[in-house]
Amino acid sequence: MNEFQLIARYFDWPASNAELGVGDDAALVSVAPGKQLAISADMLVEGRHFFADVDPDCLGRKVLAVNLSDMAAMGAVPRWFTLALALPQIDTRWLEAFSRGLRAMAEEHGVTLIGGDTTCGPLTISIQIMGEVEAGAALLRSGGLPGDDLWVSGPLGAAAAAVMHRQGRTILPPNIFAQCEVRLDLPVPRVALGRQLCGLASAALDISDGLLADAGHLCERSGCGAEIELSCVPYPYVLSDLPPDLLQEAILAGGDDYELCFSAPAAQRDAIEALKISTGLSLTRVGRLVAGQGVRVLDSCGEPLVLSHAGFDHFA
Ligand code: ADP
Ligand code: MG
Repeated sequence: MNEFQLIARYFDWPASNAELGVGDDAALVSVAPGKQLAISADMLVEGRHFFADVDPDCLGRKVLAVNLSDMAAMGAVPRWFTLALALPQIDTRWLEAFSRGLRAMAEEHGVTLIGGDTTCGPLTISIQIMGEVEAGAALLRSGGLPGDDLWVSGPLGAAAAAVMHRQGRTILPPNIFAQCEVRLDLPVPRVALGRQLCGLASAALDISDGLLADAGHLCERSGCGAEIELSCVPYPYVLSDLPPDLLQEAILAGGDDYELCFSAPAAQRDAIEALKISTGLSLTRVGRLVAGQGVRVLDSCGEPLVLSHAGFDHFA
């Protein structure tokens, strides 16, 4: 099989929402009047972002899920994506499963694969995703104001606990590991929530580097600081038996959960509580934005904790 047969066999799907999809020198799409294009890219490298033995079907879902999560964080409707793929060799079983998982996730969210690039090299998967959002309505990181509440869209730390287990830093009972592993391998992008936060949230982002680091990014762009109450940060019940230091690290510094973190004026509390019911998500208020800079984590007495772990930094 050559490169072109490979593309035709695994990645040339019907492109329902594009004027021109895979097969030409570029794809053609139309953005609806009054909308802006939201564009984001994410690259996953074997050995760094995923383990070599990960199930390719799962991987196909995950690479798109992390990109969808960026659309969620912008409040955009995901519409199109491109796929740049470096493959060490043509492994038809791998390609079959990977493309199946990718396509399933794409169909679930109504996004279309409209092009890409395929080359030989160390396994690297890069997706660029594009979505539409009403002009001026996107959720930015920069809109937070001192006094706003800080929220997360669900429990944190499960994915990080699975990584800790795989790295041998802790041993989780098999049933608990299985529950954590699902969060790591199959994150659920909060796309519908992102849409509904438009007009409610003042700022938002998705948590991919850990709550502490990502809240820090929101603060930096918003020109303020934040206080997070550790006892308010939700984590799954199954993590209760982790040693306290690992639990704290998992919920504050663990990436890969892909929940949203957002700020909103206190006046929106009722609206957000209503969203909690309509979406079934455990939206939780974890702290507030404050004047100044930096993120402080407070213990149950309101005293700042001294923390050793920052978020994940690919070059650290
Ligand atoms: P060019 O040489 O003009 O860049 P390519 O030969 O790289 O074109 O690709 C041919 C077509 O296949 C293009 O439409 C391109 O977008 C698409 N394509 C290449 N690789 C992929 C991929 N991994 N997934 C989806 N489409 C792809
Ligand atoms: Mg090309």
